[in-house]
Amino acid sequence: MDHAKNKVFKLIGKAQHYAWGGHSFIASLLGHPNKPIAEYWMGAHHNASSEILFNDGKTAKLNEYICKFPLETLGEPVFEKFGKLPYLLKILDVKDMLSIQVHPSKENAEIEFAKEQASGIAVDAPNRNYKDNNHKPELALALGEFWLLHGFKSEQKLKSTLQNVYELKPLLTVFESGGYYELYRVVMEMDQQVVNQMLQPLLDKIMTAYQKNQLEKTDEHFWAARAALTYNQPDKIDRGIFSIYFFNLLKLNPGEAIFQEAGLPHAYLEGQNVEIMSNSDNVLRGGLTPKHIDVKELLKHIKFEETIPRIIYEKKLDDHVWSYPTTATDFELSKIELKKNEHASVISESAEIFFVMKGNVEIKEQAHHLTLSKGEAFVSFHASGFDIDALDNALLYVASVPFPQP
Ligand SMILES: [Zn+2]
Repeated sequence: MDHAKNKVFKLIGKAQHYAWGGHSFIASLLGHPNKPIAEYWMGAHHNASSEILFNDGKTAKLNEYICKFPLETLGEPVFEKFGKLPYLLKILDVKDMLSIQVHPSKENAEIEFAKEQASGIAVDAPNRNYKDNNHKPELALALGEFWLLHGFKSEQKLKSTLQNVYELKPLLTVFESGGYYELYRVVMEMDQQVVNQMLQPLLDKIMTAYQKNQLEKTDEHFWAARAALTYNQPDKIDRGIFSIYFFNLLKLNPGEAIFQEAGLPHAYLEGQNVEIMSNSDNVLRGGLTPKHIDVKELLKHIKFEETIPRIIYEKKLDDHVWSYPTTATDFELSKIELKKNEHASVISESAEIFFVMKGNVEIKEQAHHLTLSKGEAFVSFHASGFDIDALDNALLYVASVPFPQP
């Protein structure tokens, strides 16, 4: 692999065909034939690296190219601090709700990944918890109406739910005496038979209303009924249904974003988003999934505290650029919006990934020109300067590393 003299290249991401994904949104965005695609990854994760498409038609994996030319691609400050591309950019299409999950802190991910490596569990084994040694804070920006569960309700709201949903009432005293930890531990460690005994009467009550379309999406019963239809197995009601009542149920409108830090339990329920996160695939699951659940491990990483959801709105940086500010040091998401014939000049401090969400653009890096259409991506490396010309009205999402680093 040689070092290319240009610094801006087309980038081919990786489609992930998870079972919960939608059938047409991402496929039509990418111009692929209709096929379920749950996620489209753009980044350098070692399990699913994007590919650089060079001018001569050759390709290279982004993670390998960065590894070979770290200073030329990342620049010194980012290489010194992270040693690799620190973020991952995704487009998500959630048709069936995803598992309830939490991500570890950086410190814990390092300890636990090393432990699992030493114990010899294969990295792709179904009971493997840690796929890498990184944390995974994430920012999700809604592309349409987006529904999710986001952290524990406030004490007052949770008490009122446990008071009002008759079948959950026995849990009220558990919460009052033992708080968030005890409430969650009790349902996660509960005997499956007891889970069935508690939740079956509740499901019996709400299922008919769900099937007759009488429940609103703002009603937890809607999602509980849907979860039961999606995930219950004979004699095994998914205990993740408890969490639907414990967590904040949120609807994001297009253009609204939310940030989820280490330890904050969450689940995506329905919709499409752009997501940016630290370059990691570390997920601990707590239900609404046929996948491996390690309760002991899960309880270690959840922050047992109330979350008051904070919607993030775009912030204008200049004529054509808006950002979605968070406290993350590994990534920043921004967008560039251009009307036909407008252009933006960009200087990349480190490796940046651009995804064309709408329209057609021409990228001009001196004599080197690239044309990109909706659904295509490109990467720019450290110390590159280029123009983006809009051939018609265009919208791009941009993943970058905050600069200067705090
Ligand atoms: Zn997550």
